Amino acid sequence: MIDGVWGDRARIYASPDLLVRIETTSFSAGPLRVTRIPSPVRARTGEDYPSLDAIAAEMEAIAQAHPDLCRLYTVGRSLLDRPLLMMKISDHPDLEEDEPEVLYLSTMHGDEPVGTLLCLDLIRLFVEGYGLDPEITRLVNEVEIWIMPMMNPDGYAGIYRTNAQGYDLNRSFPDRVIDPVNTTDGRPPETQHLMNWVYAHSPVLAASFHTGALVVNYPYDADPDPSARYSAAPDDPLFIQQSLAYASLNPPMSQSPWFDNGIINGVDWYTVYGGIQDWLYVWQGCNAVTVELSDAKRPSFSEMGSLWIENREAMLAYMAWSLKGVRGIVTDSITGLPIQASVRVEGIDHDVYTDPDVGDYHRMLLSGTYTLRFRAAGYVEKRVQDLVVGSRDALRIHVSLDPVSPGDVTGDGRIDLADAVAALQILSGLKPSAQVALSADVDQDGKIGLGEAIFCLKGLLGIPPIFLLSQ
Ligand SMILES: [Zn+2]
Repeated sequence: MIDGVWGDRARIYASPDLLVRIETTSFSAGPLRVTRIPSPVRARTGEDYPSLDAIAAEMEAIAQAHPDLCRLYTVGRSLLDRPLLMMKISDHPDLEEDEPEVLYLSTMHGDEPVGTLLCLDLIRLFVEGYGLDPEITRLVNEVEIWIMPMMNPDGYAGIYRTNAQGYDLNRSFPDRVIDPVNTTDGRPPETQHLMNWVYAHSPVLAASFHTGALVVNYPYDADPDPSARYSAAPDDPLFIQQSLAYASLNPPMSQSPWFDNGIINGVDWYTVYGGIQDWLYVWQGCNAVTVELSDAKRPSFSEMGSLWIENREAMLAYMAWSLKGVRGIVTDSITGLPIQASVRVEGIDHDVYTDPDVGDYHRMLLSGTYTLRFRAAGYVEKRVQDLVVGSRDALRIHVSLDPVSPGDVTGDGRIDLADAVAALQILSGLKPSAQVALSADVDQDGKIGLGEAIFCLKGLLGIPPIFLLSQ
């Protein structure tokens, strides 16, 4: 039975006999994705949105039932002391692997409950479909999946947008235009906890779920030029394709009468200062979009079943983007140990970073030929040319960097700002504050005096300067 057709895709319910015939038939349209579990996994019961206790109980029950795949963490507590729950799903949930980390989070706005339930449905889909559905199995095996269904439990409990202090959480992050200080200081507790989680985990792809419209919104959300009508990120063509990967699989979204193909640039829609997606992209090297799931903020609960069906494939397809582009591990050529490095594609003014736990980087890219530059404090930069990136699995390029000699570091007594920042990143684990603290002292050549860098390091960390020199 054909359940629906979207462009060149169709969902078909098939008996085992028919399934065999389908699988042995060659289609010109492309690979066949066979799902052997019912869709949706389970219809939601009940007449209204669940309580916070019921949401927590559901997450705890799933984690207990699937200890081989799930770990449930409390990453902090809300202003009113409610837990902020995060589920990790992975084939090795206790390990940091050479895998991209992907973050899905929902309901920064407490009166927008749809994404919470879709995130719970997605968690359930992963644990119940693992080993049965090829794409679900691939994602669980190859991605470190992190899902936070409820970022604003206080607002959810009271059915209001802000946190309990009146902060709009999606206006509370560092912002390149009006608040370019990448620290947690002075921010609402919910924001601080999420930022600290991001600092510790280095996700490379993220989606934040909202309601109130039906569209995928991609960076930038704010532009230094207040009259800008569109604010293109350096990765604008990539963001468009990633947004389409989501919207094209959500039929009502892709057929939107308001948004071409169901996607829109942030500034092209309306400016947001302090939103999470610009922060994740600008400072953390993480491609992030905002997914608006329904025109109604709180649609009737009876619509949850169809909302899940409309978003399920889109949620999977967007996540799968984390496995495209170029990936690899950056190590010290002498010790073989992973190092914290930045990776830049020539022609695209944007860095991504290795996850220092394993040294893995994941640089999503559209198909094409690229040259990458690998940099780390205290190492000789390495340039890798003419990498041919396809549209399927990421190209794997492992890189080992040679440490520079102390003579190279001192030179004329000035070092590149990027090297100084990277040194502070390694020592402090704080990419952001290093950048901000050092930027004030940078000269026109992009260099900073070694003495100033050391002074800054001492101020930030209170540790002996010899550590910088020995990097
Ligand atoms: Zn919202």
